[in-house]
Amino acid sequence: MTARAVEGQGEEESGWQLFIRTEGKCGACGGSLAKGFINGVMLDKYANWEFPAWGNVLARDEDKRELKRASTFLCDACVDLRKLGRGPPIKWAVEIYREDEVYKLRYHPVEGLEAADPITEEDLHTPEGRQASE
Ligand SMILES: [Zn+2]
Repeated sequence: MTARAVEGQGEEESGWQLFIRTEGKCGACGGSLAKGFINGVMLDKYANWEFPAWGNVLARDEDKRELKRASTFLCDACVDLRKLGRGPPIKWAVEIYREDEVYKLRYHPVEGLEAADPITEEDLHTPEGRQASE
């Protein structure tokens, strides 16, 4: 299962968005992220790095768990194809790290990452999940 968050276009972009546009690539096709939306996609794989990972926005107390989940960025074309069930498989998860005061991106092959436990409705704060925890 994947969940999706979208970084918008139109409003003035943050330094992070510009960084990802310049340095990033699509985690499925390897294409440019210079145009369109920067689609953040959460993966059901564990990240063996710190950032970015699933945050507590998408999954309850995810940041307190011992293992963090990986994510990646996809281009609009791949997101559109995936909605139709025809998208290329996601090949790379992304890590952002700092070296000599400079932020850098590192891509990790998804097939080399450990599969994560399933995310539950409760984790995602959905109405179904809230009912289950009450
Ligand atoms: Zn793509």
